Amino acid sequence: MIGFLQRLGLAKAVCLNCGKCFYGKEQGYICEDCLTSLKPHHPLDYSRRIPYISSYRIFALYEGVLRQTLIALKFQPSKALAINLGTIIKDHLFEYLEEIKPDLITFPPLNIRRLWSRGFNHAEWILKGAGVPAVSLFKRHGFSPPMARLNREERQRAVKEYRLKKECMDLLEDKIVLLFDDLLTTGATAQRLAELLLSVGAREVHAYFVAREQ
Ligand SMILES: [Zn+2]
Repeated sequence: MIGFLQRLGLAKAVCLNCGKCFYGKEQGYICEDCLTSLKPHHPLDYSRRIPYISSYRIFALYEGVLRQTLIALKFQPSKALAINLGTIIKDHLFEYLEEIKPDLITFPPLNIRRLWSRGFNHAEWILKGAGVPAVSLFKRHGFSPPMARLNREERQRAVKEYRLKKECMDLLEDKIVLLFDDLLTTGATAQRLAELLLSVGAREVHAYFVAREQ
């Protein structure tokens, strides 16, 4: 019921970042003042290489409003919030798209259990908000918990669960692919997905992350 009232803009919500009450017309978790305060972080250090990734970009650091927004997306999934975040990163993302001119844009898959419990892939919906057409190239076997909760060894094992969809393998010959994800932590996921793309003939793989852990 609250969700319904929020969609109508009639229910008050409390911003998870600043604690201010607002009418949650759009999504109900992060207020508009906080969201519009998000700006690309300059300059960022790109000296750390991610194996198999030709280049990458990051919108900002995983702190403050951005951190609260990504946490909200993880635990209180809201397509509207994902879309709002997409509109905020849009200009920054498009600058990078202009630079690398990808043929395909894609995102990591959730495993079935998470997709089922959350109902949607937030990376896919952030891209929708940015107005960027993307294709789902991967699937994920197994039931590993989210990467953030795993140690290094468990992550190595979990990334092995990623596979390319069979029907997508022929699409990738000589293509420049952009991987889009919300958070860069170890880079293990991006590395594994890039390895898969290159193994079926992709020419280059680049990556864009909404946030990076310091
Ligand atoms: Zn706020």
